[in-house]
Amino acid sequence: MDVNEKLKILSAAAKYDVSCVSSGSTRKNTKGGIGNAAESGICHTWAADGRCVSLLKILLTNNCIYNCAYCINRVTNEIPRASFTVDEIVDLTINFYIRNYIEGLFLSSGVEKNADYTMERMLRAVKKLRLEKKFNGYIHLKAIPGASYSLISEAGRYADRMSVNIELPSEESLKALAPQKSKEKILLPMRQIGAEIIEKAAEHDKNKKAPQFVPAGQSTQLIIGASPEPDYKIIKLSESLYNKVNLKRVFYSAYIPVSFDNPNLPVISKPPLLREHRLYQADWLLRFYGFSAGELLTPERPHLDAALDPKAAWALNNLGQFPVEINRAAYETILRIPGIGVRSAKKIIAARRVHALNFDDLKRLGVVLKRAKYFITCSGKYYERIILEQNFLRFKMIGAPDASAGAEGAANSETNITAKNRLNKKEDAGQLLLFEQYANNAGDCLDNIGSNDNNRNILPPPAAITSVNAAITGEF
Ligand code: SF4
Repeated sequence: MDVNEKLKILSAAAKYDVSCVSSGSTRKNTKGGIGNAAESGICHTWAADGRCVSLLKILLTNNCIYNCAYCINRVTNEIPRASFTVDEIVDLTINFYIRNYIEGLFLSSGVEKNADYTMERMLRAVKKLRLEKKFNGYIHLKAIPGASYSLISEAGRYADRMSVNIELPSEESLKALAPQKSKEKILLPMRQIGAEIIEKAAEHDKNKKAPQFVPAGQSTQLIIGASPEPDYKIIKLSESLYNKVNLKRVFYSAYIPVSFDNPNLPVISKPPLLREHRLYQADWLLRFYGFSAGELLTPERPHLDAALDPKAAWALNNLGQFPVEINRAAYETILRIPGIGVRSAKKIIAARRVHALNFDDLKRLGVVLKRAKYFITCSGKYYERIILEQNFLRFKMIGAPDASAGAEGAANSETNITAKNRLNKKEDAGQLLLFEQYANNAGDCLDNIGSNDNNRNILPPPAAITSVNAAITGEF
């Protein structure tokens, strides 16, 4: 099989991994035209300074020995199979880079023969790129669950970002849908990578010549809707990963049915895109707005509201904390007002030092009052006549007189989604990218692409991490 044929198969096989953020365009080439925005193969991620970086997104191989029920590459699926050689990956990356098609590489893989065999080939590819070809572009590398940590650790000296995909949010679901995987195989390398990131970052802070390790951090992906866990369990897991394994990002991917022969998989007519979107919003609140998972959802109220964004839903459930007086409230309190983001909160704090603010001042500052006006006062005055009561405010915000629109949560209610296929998911992804770009502009570091060091030495893995941490295990 020639390399072009392999590229076609292995770039298409990589498109289901969303832990490398993609552009969201659906435009295909037309007769007589040039370019195709909808093809797989190139994806995009964002640098901390707001730059968009294009990546060659491929699998090393889709010859996978595992049989994860939700995956198109599972061993029992009859699809064309291919594997790149190490040299083919290196040559493709360099040639595409020279031609200005890409600025980096996203390399994932199925498990061929065994985890170590696969990880060792991925390591050889990134090592050759860095040491022989002097490639300084961005590299996002998957760590293969079950591979020896010495291989993963060595690869981490050449990659900017690494990710181990959790895929399913509970051990029971792993057993049902991905029986060859286990929480230990997934969480152990995540903890080891997280510990080594901290260790090497501290060394690098003291000595700028010290080798870096995964300087852009690690991420993971969770599939939403392939297994029965509610949103509460999912965001508790995400919170735990952010706090305890130093994770940079959790990506949520609405389950897309690719096989219909496993009775443990749900029968769905369309991917749960609204649920995915609400989870991204809740995740945002965890990372940038100071919320905890337990504030957003509880075991008794385990689903995100389908009709309202999670911050507005939280406000309706905590009306005792409102109204917020704009001229006196702390920055952290202002951040919790529905509709007010980081940039607006900072502007309010700065402007009120000069004089007390009224609603016209807020408009002049660019604060969007569409939702915020129901939850704030300026020098004791409301924007309009407000009743601080759930049904009244809900009706004002979304026109629904009660919580029935969101009562079952985004997990079970997809009525707002007009999407009929995966293409509309890409539109959602596009919106999320705008969301991310905003945060980047506001100074929030999302995809902090670090510098590369061609001369990284091979160092031993952190000795302390030999088992899965019990606290994380408890959340899994
Ligand atoms: S190990 Fe990865 S590539 Fe292989 S079947 Fe499972 S999810 Fe798919």
